[in-house]
Amino acid sequence: MKIKKCRLCQSEHIEKVVDLGFHPLADTFLPEELLLGPEVSVPLQLGLCRSCGHVFTLYSVSAVERYQKQDYSYDSSNSKVSIAHFKEFSDAVLAVKQPEKNSLIVDIGSNIGTLLSHFQGVGYDNVLGVEPSGNISALAIKAGVPTINDFFSTAIVEHLKGLGAVQVLLSANVLNHADDLGALLETAKQVLAEDGVFVFEVPYLLDLVQGTAFDTIYHEHVHYYGIQPLSAALQRSGFSIFQVDRLDYMCGSIRVYTRLGGTHAQVVESMIENERSFRLYEAETFRAFMERVRKVKTTVVAHLANIKLAGGKIIGIGAATKGNTFLNYCRLDADVIAYVADASPLKIGKMTPGSHIPIIADQDIDEAATHALILPWNIAPMLQAKLSHLGLEFYVPQVETLNNATH
Ligand SMILES: [Zn+2]
Repeated sequence: MKIKKCRLCQSEHIEKVVDLGFHPLADTFLPEELLLGPEVSVPLQLGLCRSCGHVFTLYSVSAVERYQKQDYSYDSSNSKVSIAHFKEFSDAVLAVKQPEKNSLIVDIGSNIGTLLSHFQGVGYDNVLGVEPSGNISALAIKAGVPTINDFFSTAIVEHLKGLGAVQVLLSANVLNHADDLGALLETAKQVLAEDGVFVFEVPYLLDLVQGTAFDTIYHEHVHYYGIQPLSAALQRSGFSIFQVDRLDYMCGSIRVYTRLGGTHAQVVESMIENERSFRLYEAETFRAFMERVRKVKTTVVAHLANIKLAGGKIIGIGAATKGNTFLNYCRLDADVIAYVADASPLKIGKMTPGSHIPIIADQDIDEAATHALILPWNIAPMLQAKLSHLGLEFYVPQVETLNNATH
């Protein structure tokens, strides 16, 4: 479905600023039996709202299609980086708010419960995850994190109210997936204690554009937040921001601390000034962004073709979701990349969506492989260190191409 109004302010003044062609769902790694069926393929385009500055996908894929139709493959415990990140997240929240030990702490889109498990680890036992994916919420419950298998919507308000007011409401990388942010904030408002806090993390639009992180764009990421439109949307829903942290996580994110009522702290104004001085909400900025994106594609395709012509065998490292936007945008398939090696049991044995490259376990990398293209470039140093004994020549195209372009 084509989106005709801004997903935050409902303005009809929207302009297409990014076009990456047709893409499947980047998070849906395919088991062999699904290869015979039709695969979702939807234009991956971003629009810029001329009224509030919000950036969002112009074509929507239903949330049920995204999270409940097939097993969801992202498991927040699957990398050391994310485990350490969630520990730091819980420490940061407890630094601004130390609720009573029996306080209700809820995580929206809790995945397998990694974030909540850190609160459990310091004595907060009254935690609850809300997770729409059936297979993932079952894993959370098995790991000892109480979890409701549902979307965070008005349908579960009564259930939550029965447990008491929420003192700490959390979400990591979820508000960018929510089709209707206003509805999510309304639900949050209904369940949050008057003196409670709602702390969430989302990827930051400024980092995406500055870092040319086009591979973090995919259908599951509906929203690309800048502080200007986000703070306006929060204010409309009755929330104020009292702190913002900038993080390296997910190629650049913001951790936004909010509470009910009040006005935004000064940091909001200074971040908006910074965004405006970068011209973040201007179409011209995105035209230059798309030029850099095309440069990455043509450089990578030529480089890989040369390796193949010289007799090399190229493999991929890390079946990350963002890798799928990269592979599909660059039109790379199993003719070029023999397979992708990954450590997650949720992905091994499946195929990458769209590009249909088989995913194998790290330990099954064969001796004929000569070159390794690292897909999750934000954790490239860690992956290179882990696989350094294999004697592969590593290639991190997004980083190398862009570094060369600026020299
Ligand atoms: Zn808008």
